[in-house]
Amino acid sequence: MNNPKIHSLITAKPVFPNSIFEQSQGVGMISQRTRNRLIKQLIELGVENFAVLNAIKVTPRHLFLDEAMASRAYENTALPIGFQQTLSQPLVVAKMSSWLFQGGGLDKLLEVGTGSGYQTSILAQIAKQVYSVERIQPLLNKAKKVLEYLQIKNVEFLLTDGHWGWSQYAKYDGIISAASPAKVPEALIEQLKEGGRLVMPIGEKEQLLYGFIKTSTGYTKECLGEVLFVPMKEGVVEQ
Ligand code: SAH
Repeated sequence: MNNPKIHSLITAKPVFPNSIFEQSQGVGMISQRTRNRLIKQLIELGVENFAVLNAIKVTPRHLFLDEAMASRAYENTALPIGFQQTLSQPLVVAKMSSWLFQGGGLDKLLEVGTGSGYQTSILAQIAKQVYSVERIQPLLNKAKKVLEYLQIKNVEFLLTDGHWGWSQYAKYDGIISAASPAKVPEALIEQLKEGGRLVMPIGEKEQLLYGFIKTSTGYTKECLGEVLFVPMKEGVVEQ
């Protein structure tokens, strides 16, 4: 790590109390060294956005997992969170967030697919205000609790089918989806400001990650590579 910026990132003090990590020492594999290893891996894999790397570095990913999975929290892999859903892979969160925040932090961001709330926490550290929607009530309840515990206050949640976005707070500077529909939902494009960015997977069995930028006449579309996300499903699950 010869880059001084990267060095300062690795040695910087976390924004969340250190005790969040210390309390869970019994879980193992969540030491500072393990967490730094993840950041080094992401840098080696090409992630450059300092704000994104910093947010990943200070976010206690183990809190978003059940205890049985927590020891794997700082591996660069997707992990199960129940209801056949997964907590996104750190590299994918980093890639999508970096694309979204290319021009700096955004004021108003919509996230489709709260899941565990891990990505929500990363986004909330960079965007001014995050609106996050999820279709499975129990996942949403759990995510809300973790964010409350971390004292992240700039996030509003809604149980809804994200195909429809969240019109109440539109229009957004950025939209990010962690679920893959067959084609881009029109509501998401519609709820984007001109110049706003939308990043999401598209496709069913074979998926590609796309970055859309809204223009005065429609949008531009850039392919960001192959990915594997859970499908964007219809309706909500209340249980
Ligand atoms: N970024 C999340 C990833 C969760 S997986 C994390 O880090 O934990 C994707 C999530 O999208 C799942 O929780 C799934 O329930 C949700 N999802 C799927 N279809 C949806 C829809 N139509 N509207 C809202 N959320 C949806």
